[in-house]
Amino acid sequence: MQNILQQFQLTGTHAGVSTGSSWLQSTGQSIDSMSPVDGKLIAGVQSADRASYDAAIESAQAAYLKWRAIPAPRRGEIVRQIGESLRKNKEALGRLVSFEMGKSLQEGFGEVQEMIDICDFAVGLSRQLHGLTMHSERPGHRMYEQWHPLGIVGIISAFNFPVAVWSWNSMLAWVCGNVCIWKPSEKTPLTAIACQKITAEVFAANDIPEGVSCLVIGGRDVGEWMAQDKRIPLVSATGSTRMGKSVAATVASRLGKSLLELGGNNAIIITPDADLDMSLIGAVFGAVGTAGQRCTSTRRLIIHEDVYDAFVSKLVNAYGQLRIGDPLDENNHVGPLIDTDAVKAYLTSIEECKAEGGKFLVEGGVLKGAGFESGCYVKPCIAEVENHYKIVQHETFAPILYVMKYKTLDEAIAMQNGVPQGLSSAIMTTNLREAEQFLSNAGSDCGIANVNIGTSGAEIGGAFGGEKETGGGRESGSDAWKAYMRRQTNTINYSTHLPLAQGIKFDL
Ligand code: NAD
Repeated sequence: MQNILQQFQLTGTHAGVSTGSSWLQSTGQSIDSMSPVDGKLIAGVQSADRASYDAAIESAQAAYLKWRAIPAPRRGEIVRQIGESLRKNKEALGRLVSFEMGKSLQEGFGEVQEMIDICDFAVGLSRQLHGLTMHSERPGHRMYEQWHPLGIVGIISAFNFPVAVWSWNSMLAWVCGNVCIWKPSEKTPLTAIACQKITAEVFAANDIPEGVSCLVIGGRDVGEWMAQDKRIPLVSATGSTRMGKSVAATVASRLGKSLLELGGNNAIIITPDADLDMSLIGAVFGAVGTAGQRCTSTRRLIIHEDVYDAFVSKLVNAYGQLRIGDPLDENNHVGPLIDTDAVKAYLTSIEECKAEGGKFLVEGGVLKGAGFESGCYVKPCIAEVENHYKIVQHETFAPILYVMKYKTLDEAIAMQNGVPQGLSSAIMTTNLREAEQFLSNAGSDCGIANVNIGTSGAEIGGAFGGEKETGGGRESGSDAWKAYMRRQTNTINYSTHLPLAQGIKFDL
């Protein structure tokens, strides 16, 4: 790891505010980035203070005037080069993600791959930012719409996807002609600094002015400055529902736009016609992958009574084979939680579940001893519950899987929808009628609904996001780019008269 830290010059205390290649002085609080892998300090980062934050915003405002004048396909070419640079840095950045955040090395590499994929997507998009044309009701008139950039896009991101979420936002925002200011999670500042360095090199090589890509490291206060800041027309915020409610209210009070990607409480319905072996892989990876710290992690299994016992016994058996330990060791399935606060939340949820009547089929607990010195390694556990329990209605960001029984598909869909969140959902079935009912307007109420795939892990080509307390935002593929632009309707009169719309007569 030492050589990777040196490659990105991540030693001592690093500056935390940047406008590209420049790193600004600040007097903000120093943040220690501790690895949950071994519990040791990796490096420190100086948070933004108000003066350095304002300097970054001013740099972004100036850069916007130049960046928006560059044709979109040319902006796409620069994003293509960022993708190339990420390909070269995939190994180093993926390892750093794994070490700073604690996800498995495979998932660290997968996260960087997702960044490369969104770069490719954005390059194609840079030639397809098209609007519609309409027939005017007036003779000699033409009507069409075009999409213009917004200005500064503020990106607030969570710790669990410390780099990919930024790239989903920034690569699209850039080809759309915006400039970006990124506040990463204070729990994963070093991976953000590494991304900033990779990107800044490409912008500098293309003579792009400072300010197109800005980084402001800090805690909640810096996020709040962004939410309040009228100079940021769009704030894209990923994190807890608590954070989203605060950002949404603040941004709405100044009539700005927000794009919210918040918590999930994702379920898989396992029907009598399910392929149980396939369902097992989907359920176990969904529940324990990233130690249950994905917004799309599988939190609930809703299992038909006819296959309940058979499936639960497979599940318990599979949990017995999980290897928990250093995420950089590819033999392990499950790494640590992000920090000891997350461990406390996990333990509290287990207690609350028991108090409400939950019966643990696989017990949880914190691992101790050699290799577990950070205190962040926990056992994935399974509890038999009822959907209405308070704790089941709540997203605990840890590997606790709730299982419950159903009799009819209507009942299963009602249980799946019967939580405040609406991110990802899945049904395991080989029965076409059941699958179609699940996908119909009377089926899943989530932003993502899968058939014979688990809830976790989405492709960048689709629009990603969820309903209800998940916030309603969509990022990444499909036409999610429209959130980063403003629509303008243009009517052009090429006749020698000025007829008014709706046939109104106004003669002088
Ligand atoms: P968090 O809400 O604690 O923090 C997320 C980010 O918001 C951080 O950068 C934090 O500093 C900032 N923040 C916190 N309070 C703020 C406020 N009042 N104003 C402005 N900024 C504020 O979340 P976390 O623990 O880092 O991440 C886990 C959560 O993120 C889970 O709920 C998970 O489901 C969610 N998440 C959702 C998605 C999605 O796409 N739907 C993706 C990843 C994570």
